[in-house]
This record gives sequence, C-alpha cells and structure tokens, in this order.
Amino acid sequence: MVVTMRRSAQADDVARVVSTIEVSGGTARLSRTGSAAVIGVLGEGVGITPEALVSLPGVERVTAVDKSYRLAHRLFRPEGSVVAIGDVPVGGNGLVLMAGPCAVESEAQLLAAAQGVREGGAHILRGGAFKPRTSPYSFQGLGREGLRLLAAARAATGMPVVTEVMEPSEVEAVAEAADCLQVGARNMQNTPLLRAVGQSDRPVLLKRGLAATVDEWLQAAEYILAQGNERVILCERGLRGFDGHTRFLLDVSAVPVARRLTHLPIIVDPSHAAGDRELVPALARAAIAAGADGLIVEVHPTPDTALSDGPQALTPTAFAHLVEEVSAVGAALGRPLHQA
Ligand code: PEP
Ligand code: MN
Repeated sequence: MVVTMRRSAQADDVARVVSTIEVSGGTARLSRTGSAAVIGVLGEGVGITPEALVSLPGVERVTAVDKSYRLAHRLFRPEGSVVAIGDVPVGGNGLVLMAGPCAVESEAQLLAAAQGVREGGAHILRGGAFKPRTSPYSFQGLGREGLRLLAAARAATGMPVVTEVMEPSEVEAVAEAADCLQVGARNMQNTPLLRAVGQSDRPVLLKRGLAATVDEWLQAAEYILAQGNERVILCERGLRGFDGHTRFLLDVSAVPVARRLTHLPIIVDPSHAAGDRELVPALARAAIAAGADGLIVEVHPTPDTALSDGPQALTPTAFAHLVEEVSAVGAALGRPLHQA
C-alpha cells in the first residue's frame, strides 16, 4: 500500500499515519514529493486495511500497489527521482553520459580513456576493476589495483566514477574508490549483493539481467531500496535474443515501460546490447529517443588492444560524434545534455 497525504496535511497527521502503520506491525517509509508526503507500507501480514488508513486525518488516498515492489513504484514519487552521482544529477530533465573502458587495464589506458571521454562530453567515468567474465580464462580485471587507478583518474579529471562490485565483501572497498556501485546483469538477482549495496551510502547502477523481466528488475531494485538506500538507477543493457547479428537484443520498450512503473531514473547501455561498435550510435540515439535519462558507453583509447569487449568499444573520437548525435536527439525532445 502507498498512502498519499493531502498537500494541506500537517506534520502530526503524517506522524499519526506512520505510527498507525507501525503499531500494526508494518514499517512506514516516508517520501516527500513536491509538497505532499507519500508513505510506503512495508512488511508482510501488516494488520491494517486501506479503509482504516484512508479515514485518518490528512490522508488523500490509499493505493494498493503491486505487493512485490512498493518503494520502486512510481506512486511513491510520482514526479520521478533524481539520483546524484558525485555532483551529476541522473534523472530530471538533463541527459547524463557515462563512458570509459570496459575494464581498467593500466594507468595510461585509463587516463587516456578518461581524458578522451571528458573531452567528448561525458559527465561520469566508467571502468571495471572486478570483471564478471563469461570464461574463467578471460582477463578478470585488476581488482583492488583497478580501484586505486579509478580513484586516481577521478582525482585527475574531476569526473565521478562508476564501477562494478561483484561480492558483498568488496562493497566497502569499491564504495571508497568510486562514486557509484554498478551491479552487473549477471548479478541482478544476487540477493546478498543487492542487500549489501542497499546498506551502502553510494548510489547503485542496477543493470537488467540478460533474461530478466521488467518486474524482476524492479523487484531487484526493491531489495536495494528496502535496505534504506534510495539512490538506485536502472540500466537496460539488452536481453538474450536469437539473432547473432547483435550480442544482445536491446529492449527499447523497457524504457517507457519502466518509466510508467517506477520513479527511478533509467539509462541505457548500447555497447553491451550491440556488441559491435558500428551499431552502438544507432542504439544510443534510439535509447534517448525512447526517453532514457542517459547512456553508459564503452570507450577505449585503442579498442583493438582492449583486454575485454574491444569489438564494441568506441574510440574517443567516435564517442564525441555519438555525443553530438544524441545531443541533437535530446534537444529535439527538450532534453539537453546536463551542463556542469
Ligand atoms: C560491463 O558494464 O562491463 C558489464 C559487464 O555489463 P553487463 O553486466 O551489462 O554485462
Ligand atoms: Mn564490457
């Protein structure tokens, strides 16, 4: 259930609703949206009915929402959430671009990538230190050394950093080095990891699993929100398809579908969906046209020598061109690129 208070409701009206929920064994989660308060009711078997809540002073309405996610539900914050990564707001009107290599490989490679994407117009640097590779014989990332290099790249360029965390035990170390924790597609339903990032004070970029429904993705987000971390950004990155011409099948429809269901910001990763650098710009343009709040794009200074995902990596020059194109699409929709 989600309780929407009247705009005229007083603080003690809100407090009465919260205590009524808690006395009956539920947990109340308060959100201020515009000038109205919204209260999410969490917990199983809460002994309170919508009728009892709607009769309390100051309550505008009580809505039954899909039981499986409430805090992620659009009703909880109807105007949409803005989640800041460092000082860059994701969500709202401006478009945000995250870019960088698939994997951190060396100091020189990361700095060249970081400077290249910053000049091309990126706001946030991406790069994996812990890599969830399909084969155990592929490059697995530099681990803690990669985190150190990311922190150095952040200091050198001023760009906030997003990087993947794969294990609950690494959350603290990754959160120290980075501004945003990425949960990869393969870990979207790793509930211990979701709980662990939910206890962090860093924003979380939650990628959609490669065969996950939109509802499963939102329930994964709910795990994080239910732990108290309100800063979740969703990322569509393509689903397992049947046609080998692309690596995955970009679900462009997931953008407006998720937009309807949730208040969380939604970005798109055209790189892993395409798996092929020539196709990345078209998917990026489509994502922005469909209403995404931004993109995460793989860029490498020398894609042909990349230790992971080279075929889908853009050069910094190609990235700058992509930025011009998506900026034009965004402008046509009244959504300019975020200006620092
Ligand atoms: C990545 O961002 O490099 C990555 C591994 O993505 P995904 O989890 O979407 O496959
Ligand atoms: Mn990659």
